[in-house]
Amino acid sequence: MSDLTPSGSHSTGAAGRDAGASLFEEAARRALRYLQELERRRVFPSPEALNGLMAFEEPLPAGPSDPLETLALLDERGSPGTVTSPGGRYFGFVFGGSLPAALAANWLAGAWDQNAAMEAASPAAAKLERVAMSWLLDVLGLPADCGIGFVSGATMANFSGLAAARHALLKAQGWDVEAMGLFGAPPITVVVGEEVHVSLLKALSLLGLGRERVLRVPVDGQGRMLADALPPLSESTIVCIQAGNVNTGAFDPAAEICQQARAAGAWVHVDGAFGLWAAAAPQRAHLAAGLSEADSWATDAHKWLNVPYDCGLVFCRRPEDLRAALTHSPAAYLVTDGRRDPMEYTPEMSRRARGIEVWAALRSLGRAGLAEMIERCCRHAARFAQGLQAAGFTVLNDVVLNQVLVSFGSPGKTGQVIRALQEEGTCWCGGTVWQGHTAMRISVSSWATTTEDVDRCLEAMLRAAAL
Ligand SMILES: *Cc1c(COP(=O)(O)O)cnc(C)c1O
Repeated sequence: MSDLTPSGSHSTGAAGRDAGASLFEEAARRALRYLQELERRRVFPSPEALNGLMAFEEPLPAGPSDPLETLALLDERGSPGTVTSPGGRYFGFVFGGSLPAALAANWLAGAWDQNAAMEAASPAAAKLERVAMSWLLDVLGLPADCGIGFVSGATMANFSGLAAARHALLKAQGWDVEAMGLFGAPPITVVVGEEVHVSLLKALSLLGLGRERVLRVPVDGQGRMLADALPPLSESTIVCIQAGNVNTGAFDPAAEICQQARAAGAWVHVDGAFGLWAAAAPQRAHLAAGLSEADSWATDAHKWLNVPYDCGLVFCRRPEDLRAALTHSPAAYLVTDGRRDPMEYTPEMSRRARGIEVWAALRSLGRAGLAEMIERCCRHAARFAQGLQAAGFTVLNDVVLNQVLVSFGSPGKTGQVIRALQEEGTCWCGGTVWQGHTAMRISVSSWATTTEDVDRCLEAMLRAAAL
């Protein structure tokens, strides 16, 4: 890579970029070494590595310096201070790693530095996003003409889907919420399960729907909403259901809830941050049964599709509802000529071209590769559960997906095991309280986790429990 400059470009820019060639080669070399070391690294940084982060605490330099020096500092002090969630032994939250194809596409797309707001700003980004959209709807089993927005994560995907719901329900009552706001608007009732994710409540608060102004439906022992405990629904109700409980992995009974909602004219929004991907794996698809009957869906690509941060996805049965909720008012300089401009389906205008990594991940995996990645994570979760049960510990949930909740005895003992495991460094798991029981959470969502990783981490867990 001695010349990064296409022939015929301006010489000043060319000179600047030539000087950068060794910088970018060095960045690639360091990044590669980081990836190769993941296998051997502790998952959470050591106390020394955390101390090393102090090196960043310097005054703003008075003037320019060699970018190579900045890169070296970033790698030498930053890399050891990272959590190795891209490796195969991180089970703390549902994070996912980065598939090689997605990470490589991210590097090239970083060089492209495209603004994905408009087709006019990046035909390539807009094209790849459109292709990814149709593939996503296909693998997730959603209606083929859904509207889609590429957002920062499931929080903004929940926000966007709920904004579409708010728009549609109020429009049907003659109220233009985008123009008039909620002051004086007809009331909307929001129904959630007892086990609703905090991010959905945050989205409700951002939308003026209120995170405490919700009706909470009781749940069963796995955290599933009881469909027969729903309050009366109407044309002014939004029912928020969950595909994949963050503790147990359980799914709300979508088919029954959607049927009741449909009959009443209510809107159903699905928080499927990771669970929606079950639809892409034939052996798990039964969990997702009925979800396609909803009106809007939120999921993350940066979780189980294993693309780099950040990438969430919102889907809306009627694209016009999503667009009406999120588009800007007309501006003379933003003429779209009837094209699908991505920014009309997201809260942001300018943003990075997230669709590129989604496209690369799906293209490199193919339908079968995606199904196998999802299924493999679920198999690993089951292997953890079996190993822990065989050693005499209690698994608190039905391990239907990628989540395992394990108790090592008393709350104090379980807490001790979690701390010991985190300090030892082989893997990283967090704690939770599930329906009154203190537990360790194991979330398997990385393409990189192997059966050997699971066995090695199981041993570390049993060692920590024996202390
Ligand atoms: C992770 C998660 C979210 C939030 O997603 P972000 O990408 O962090 O914004 C919402 N709901 C569920 C069920 C989740 O697991």
